[in-house]
Amino acid sequence: MSKQAPRKVDMEKIVSLCQRRGFIFPSSEIYGGLSSCWDYGPLGVELKQNVKQAWWRAMVQGRDDMVGLDASILMHPQVWEASGHLKGFSDPLVECKSCHRRWRADELKDSNCPSCGGEVTESRLFNLMFKTFMGPVEDSASVVYLRPETAQGIFVNFQNVLNTTRKRPPFGIAQIGKAFRNEITTGNFIFRSREFEQMEIEFFVKPGTDKQWFDYWTQERLNWYVKLGIKRENLRLRQHTEEELAHYARECYDINYLFPMGWSELEGIANRGDFDLVQHTKSSGKSLDYFDEETRERFVPYIIEPSAGVDRSVLAFLCEAYDEEPDNNEIRVLLHLHPSLAPIKVAVLPLSRREKLAKVAKEVYADLRQCWMVQYDDAQSIGRRYRRQDEIGTPFCVTVDFQSLEDEQVTIRERDTMNQIRVPISAVKATLAAKLSGEELFVLPPDGKIWKMEKPNSS
Ligand code: ATP
Repeated sequence: MSKQAPRKVDMEKIVSLCQRRGFIFPSSEIYGGLSSCWDYGPLGVELKQNVKQAWWRAMVQGRDDMVGLDASILMHPQVWEASGHLKGFSDPLVECKSCHRRWRADELKDSNCPSCGGEVTESRLFNLMFKTFMGPVEDSASVVYLRPETAQGIFVNFQNVLNTTRKRPPFGIAQIGKAFRNEITTGNFIFRSREFEQMEIEFFVKPGTDKQWFDYWTQERLNWYVKLGIKRENLRLRQHTEEELAHYARECYDINYLFPMGWSELEGIANRGDFDLVQHTKSSGKSLDYFDEETRERFVPYIIEPSAGVDRSVLAFLCEAYDEEPDNNEIRVLLHLHPSLAPIKVAVLPLSRREKLAKVAKEVYADLRQCWMVQYDDAQSIGRRYRRQDEIGTPFCVTVDFQSLEDEQVTIRERDTMNQIRVPISAVKATLAAKLSGEELFVLPPDGKIWKMEKPNSS
């Protein structure tokens, strides 16, 4: 992986690469854009999808104690009363321009942020939730909100999941979905936007075991980023002080990443205690406790919540992966993306457009496309084509040359080391599958011997 990525990169370079190569565009760009809303282009949608898939695979598919959920964005308005969002989000607020913490205007001694001393915005009666109307009549009776977090959809489904699965505490419910916040200050590209996606887990545990689970999840989530290529020294845990703890939290840590603009929150991990289930029990009149048949105990589970942002993760992976290397008189820009995150896994490059060569290359292309996102590129010199793929993080290029017509072999080139090996066409798919499937990809030896395969029996 990149050795100095975060320091080589500034936000302008990332934004420019994202626009130039079709990762991310401003929303409604032909109309001048819409403040802090972004559209993911052909490569961005793949990258984002891969981040979500990596999370789902590790947090849901790979675990015995987790199930998934996809709740609706619009929820009963009482949800937001019970959760504290309606009340908490409609105070006169100021926001610190530098650390973005919000303060109730009447609690400030002067116009500086009590946390970092930064300048604060003018005070405004502010509700962070987007309001809309359900049904044909726009009156207060039909007001609904776009959810500002996905978590509440999980809390209100706690009993449904208990009743329909055999999961028992300790277990979790995971969800990925859109959330909307009418943020006071936005910026730093996709870091803070008004429409974004979250990947949230609500993990239900027996009171008394919550501290241990909180520590477990903090480590687990840190490890997830590291396994996908973020260097440990670019991640930090920051504990919330007593004063900054949210009204629902007993303990909270932020996982911060060294973004180009400095250390900033990537994910929050909170011990929410029984706050949410108790609140929804009071508000709905429906009991949300759990009866343990074995111990004959009844309790309201405590909840540990690792809450990550999809878009912030995408940005962190891009920043971490970005690299520039001298390349004769030019600069080779490359993304050292983990293969499971790379939008395009393989590019098939015929050395020339001659029909004989194109025929073979297209066959290889068609075959590989059954397994992965693959690009076919026959425009310009092979060097330029390699650079184009490096810049979007494609781990492997398969080059079909004139010798391929003779020996039925092609060259596979690896992005980071630029190592090249010859592989029989019949073994290309298996070779790539082996290399794309695991973390051992990053220990490719310089001579590439480890992944040289014997020519199958055809000879
Ligand atoms: P911040 O203080 O940076 O606005 P937050 O503490 O309000 O974030 P949480 O409510 O803890 O954020 O939400 C959990 C995660 O959702 C965050 O760690 C972040 O990754 C993501 N997130 C929250 N708000 C936004 C936003 N406006 N744009 C993009 N991602 C967001």
